[in-house]
Amino acid sequence: AHSQAIGAPKIPSVSWQDIGGLQEVKKEILDTVQLPLEHPELLTLGLRRSGLLLYGPPGTGKTLLAKAVATECSMTFLRSDGSSESLRYDRESLRGINSCVCGVFFSVKGPELINMYVGQSEENIREVFRKARTAAPCIVFFDELDSLAPNRGHSGDSGGVMDRVVSQLLAELDGLHSSGDVFVIGATNRPDLLDQSLLRPGRFDKLVYVGVNEDRESQLQVLKAILRKFEVDSSVCLSDVVERCPTQLTGADLYALCSDAMMSAIKRKITRITEGLESEAGSLTLTASDFSQALSDLQPSVSEQELQRY
Ligand code: ATP
Repeated sequence: AHSQAIGAPKIPSVSWQDIGGLQEVKKEILDTVQLPLEHPELLTLGLRRSGLLLYGPPGTGKTLLAKAVATECSMTFLRSDGSSESLRYDRESLRGINSCVCGVFFSVKGPELINMYVGQSEENIREVFRKARTAAPCIVFFDELDSLAPNRGHSGDSGGVMDRVVSQLLAELDGLHSSGDVFVIGATNRPDLLDQSLLRPGRFDKLVYVGVNEDRESQLQVLKAILRKFEVDSSVCLSDVVERCPTQLTGADLYALCSDAMMSAIKRKITRITEGLESEAGSLTLTASDFSQALSDLQPSVSEQELQRY
């Protein structure tokens, strides 16, 4: 199951423009991650480097944000180095640990590192940090961090396996201080389940909430960001579309709306092709009726009750 979960290395190519709304979140992330990278002298002046923890309901854009940081920072690394030397890495040796590698960005899903063999999970964690130090400057992204670092003593495992995993993770995080050029970002839907020692200064000490889009303006911005990659008929008024949306939508909900509209456009095109009214060539354009169709199925994926958790 381990190797199956890993897959081929992927290169993130998410830019800030692909992420709609979340203005405050973006700003906070840039201040935390990019400022010290672009101005290392600030670190000597007393600015402390923090690990970033993105938390919030599923589908709100946490993974997307981490990928955008990686894209953005790879440019910073390139600039500060004056060469692409630091981006060199050994794909083969990284295989088996990372689901996503781009020289500067290691993306690790918490559950991927957990292994039933005694001591193997800790070894996997050591390995991630070893690779990261070799590839530095780089960013390590821990998705589903709660599965890797549940509250010690409460994880329900009798042999204390998870306790040792948490201890190993903490030791590695503390060990990063000497180098300074490995940056960690974590993401979780369940910050309440995290071992609290993970949040101490010098570890994941910068907490950033990534929430649902509650107002029309942010929904509109997310919709526009998603639709950058779609062709939309000029008669479609996106402000009208969001007016007809439920409130409390995640980015993933809005993405689902767009792909449903896309599905409707595809069906329409197929019908027209079979009727001989259209050729197969040509692009697919989303119309107002495609959006109406999709809106009728749109439901917020995060309930009011779930939102109370944060
Ligand atoms: P999970 O906690 O389930 O891992 P997440 O918060 O990491 O969720 P993402 O994987 O980043 O969520 O988002 C899921 C998808 O939703 C993205 O691939 C993207 O298509 C869309 N999406 C989410 N938020 C935004 C946004 N702010 N702008 C544009 N698209 C978004």
